[in-house]
Order: sequence, then structure tokens, then C-alpha cells
Amino acid sequence: MISQESARAKSAAVARRRAKLVGMPRHAGRYGAWHLFVLPALSDNYMYALRHAETGAVVLVDPGEMAPVVNWLGMQQCCLHTILLTHHHQDHIGAAAGLRDVYGCRILGSAQDRMRLPPLDYEAEVGECFFIEGERIAMLGVPGHTLGHVAYHLPDAGLLFSGDTLFSLGCGRLFEGTPEMMLESLEMLAALPDETMLCCGHEYTLANARFALAHDPENAALRARYEEAVALRARGLPTLPVPLHIEKAANPFLRTMGDVTRFAKLRALKDAFS
Ligand SMILES: [Zn+2]
Repeated sequence: MISQESARAKSAAVARRRAKLVGMPRHAGRYGAWHLFVLPALSDNYMYALRHAETGAVVLVDPGEMAPVVNWLGMQQCCLHTILLTHHHQDHIGAAAGLRDVYGCRILGSAQDRMRLPPLDYEAEVGECFFIEGERIAMLGVPGHTLGHVAYHLPDAGLLFSGDTLFSLGCGRLFEGTPEMMLESLEMLAALPDETMLCCGHEYTLANARFALAHDPENAALRARYEEAVALRARGLPTLPVPLHIEKAANPFLRTMGDVTRFAKLRALKDAFS
């Protein structure tokens, strides 16, 4: 029989080994000129706030809920500058207009989807680059989850906001687009530099890992990412952002590149997976 103390020592040793394995959490930090903050919203959404290190200006991605943003801005004593929207689903845009009413910020989204987004102060075209506080931001067209879905890439800061297109160990459901469209979108994102940090719209990593492990049980990178995600969630931390090179090695949907039949089959299996 194992005494309580030796059981405790054993679980502490396991925790130490796991901590060594997974390293430091990456949930927030400095990326170029910006501090990145992950703000949980609704049941499993993430909003992302970038605070400029010098000016204090804040760029907010996909505000689905007002209260966490208002609370966070109050603590930070900084100014909401621009809201970026990836797609029209309510859990990504729900608080945008209300935040503009309160803080007088501007809302930026895709011109292509203007009729489904809150009234935009700035409409960017797919493929366009624009600047906020001197930071270059590219709007990438990534249809599949919705037809007007876009992602935002900050090449100098090394950040990618992928909304509901690419998740850690998964990808978005095809509500409007075709498998061909989604695969092309994922291929575009996977072609970004390896060290790019992926910031996606939901905390789906563990659920995605269960599906991924069932289909790719021998993948060591996937197993390591799963272990890391388990450790982070056990501490109540987000599993994001995550470097793109980890996703390229571990995400089963990124391992179907160039094979739309295989991608479509995998997506259908995931839709049916419980
Ligand atoms: Zn969505």
C-alpha cells in the first residue's frame, strides 16, 4: 500500500518531469513591439489583445464578449485603438459595436464580408497590408469555415490570428466553403514561417487531440503537444499561442497537404467524432 506522502512525492516528481517536458507556458508575452494577452470569452472562445509597448495602444481581435475586455482595459489603463474581425459569427463579433460605443475605437474587417459584419470603420481587401502603430498587418483570405473568413498576419511580430480556420490540432468546420477551399486556406497558413505563433479563436486543443491521437497514434510531436496541453489546462492556462512548426508536425489536418480527398475524409470523420 502506498502511503499518502509517497503518493504525493510521486505525483510531484511526475509534475516536475512534465514541467521539464513542456517548458514554460507561452500564453502571453512580448512579440516585437507588442505584449500579447489571451482573454477567455463565452464558453471556449479566445479574444486576443495586443498592447503596444511604447504607445499603450491596444489592438483587439474578435471580441465576442464585452465584460472581459472592459475589465482588462480597466486594469491595463490603456486605450483601445482598433478591433480586427476574422469572420461574421456572433461569438467573434458580439461585443465589437458596443466596445466602439464606449471607447471610440475603430473596427476593421474584410470588405468582402461587410454586409455580415458590424458597420466597419475600415474595410480591407483580402491580400491587403495595412499598418497600425507602424506594425505591418496582412489580411489573408482563408475561406472554408465561412466564405468571407480572413486571418491577420503580423510578419515582423511573428503572430497569426487565424479565427476559426486553423485550430491547434484541428481546423474549423466547413459551414460555407468546400474542402478544396479550406485546404487551400490551410496550405496558405502552413506556408508562413515556422516560428510564427498561432493564435486561434477557441480552446479546442484537448478535444482535437483526442481525435488526432485516434488517427495518428504513433506521432511523437502530436503526443508531446497533447502532454503539453494537458499540463497547461491543468493549471487553468490557455494552450495558445503555439508555434506553427509544432502544428505542422502534430496537426492531422496540416498533414494532408496537397491531398484534398484525404483532407475531406478526415474532416468528415472529425464531424462524426464524439
Ligand atoms: Zn466561427
